[in-house]
Amino acid sequence: AAMYQAKETGKNSVCFYTPDINDRLTHYQDITTLLRRAIASDTLQLYFQPQIDLVNGGMDSCEALLRCFNEHGQAVSPADFIPVAEKSGLIHRIGNWVIEAACRQLKAWQGTALGHMRIDINLSGRQLNNPRLADEILETLQRHGLTTSQLGLELTENEVFGSDNGQIRQLERLKRSGVHISIDDFGTGYSSLVYLRKLPVCSIKIDRSFLHHAMSNDSDMAIMKAMITVGHTLGLTVVVEGVETEEQDILVKNLGCDLAQGFLYATPRPAAQMPAFLAELNA
Ligand code: C2E
Ligand code: MG
Ligand code: MG
Ligand code: MG
Repeated sequence: AAMYQAKETGKNSVCFYTPDINDRLTHYQDITTLLRRAIASDTLQLYFQPQIDLVNGGMDSCEALLRCFNEHGQAVSPADFIPVAEKSGLIHRIGNWVIEAACRQLKAWQGTALGHMRIDINLSGRQLNNPRLADEILETLQRHGLTTSQLGLELTENEVFGSDNGQIRQLERLKRSGVHISIDDFGTGYSSLVYLRKLPVCSIKIDRSFLHHAMSNDSDMAIMKAMITVGHTLGLTVVVEGVETEEQDILVKNLGCDLAQGFLYATPRPAAQMPAFLAELNA
C-alpha cells in the first residue's frame, strides 16, 4: 500500500491521510484480494469482441477482454483492476493466464468456423519487462499447435514508445515470427510519427474518443483523417474503436478505415456465444 501511495502522489508531493486516500487504499486492497482469489479459484474469464472488416462486413479477428467477477458475480472492469494488477505485480501471473487462455480458446476453435480466427490480447507494458516474454508466447503457441499469425498483441502507444531496446527487440522478434502487433488507443499517447515508422507494428487502433467527437468537432475529425492517412502511408491496417451508431459506421467507411470494433456490431461476449454470432453475421 505504501508503494502504491508513493507512486500515486509522486516524489514532490506531501501525503495527507484524507478520507479520499483511505478509500483508495481500501479499494486497492479489495481489488488485490479479489484478483488473488480469482487467480487461485481460476475464475478469470476472457470475453471476445469481434473486429469487423469494413470492406466485406465479415469478422476479421477478435479482441480478448479480461473479466474478473466479484463475490456477487458482477464483472469488475479491467479499467479498474489492471492498474492495481500492475502496481501489485500480479500483472505477470494475470498476463500469463491471458496468453494461455487465448491459446486454449484458439485450440478449442480448431476445426470449427472460427478455426482460423485471430485473437488479439491486451498486453501491459510491464509484461515486456520479462526478458523471456517473446519466448514464452512463442512456446505457448507451439505447445497448442497454433500458427503464430493466430495471435495478436495490443499495446498502448506509451507502452511501446517507452520501451527500451531489449523490449523493442522482443516485439520485433514476435512480429518477425508472425504475431500481429497493434498500437491500442492510438492518438492518446505521446508518439512521434517518425518513430512509428521504426516500430514493429502491423495496425493502429484509433482511440474511440476521436470518433465520438469527430461528428461534432472539426479538429477531431481532422485529426482522425490525418491518423488514417499516416497509418495507410506507413502500410499499417487502420482499426477504429468504439463504433456505436449507424452514422459512425458510415463515417468510418467513408474515411477508409479498414476494420472497426464497437457496440454497434457486437459487445464483448463469452467464447460460447461466438459461433452463433459468426453464423448470424455470415448468414
Ligand atoms: P481497450 O483495449 O481499448 O479495449 C476496448 C474497450 O472499449 C473495452 O473495455 C471494450 O468493452 C470497450 N468498448 C468496445 N466497444 C465499445 C463501444 O462501442 N463504446 C464504448 N464506449 N466502449 C467500447 P473493457 O473490456 O472494459 O476494457 C478496458 C481496458 O482494459 C481495455 O481497453 C484494455 O486496455 C484493458 N484490458 C482489458 N483486458 C485486458 C487484459 O487481458 N490485459 C491487460 N493488460 N489489459 C486489459
Ligand atoms: Mg485493446
Ligand atoms: Mg483500445
Ligand atoms: Mg481504448
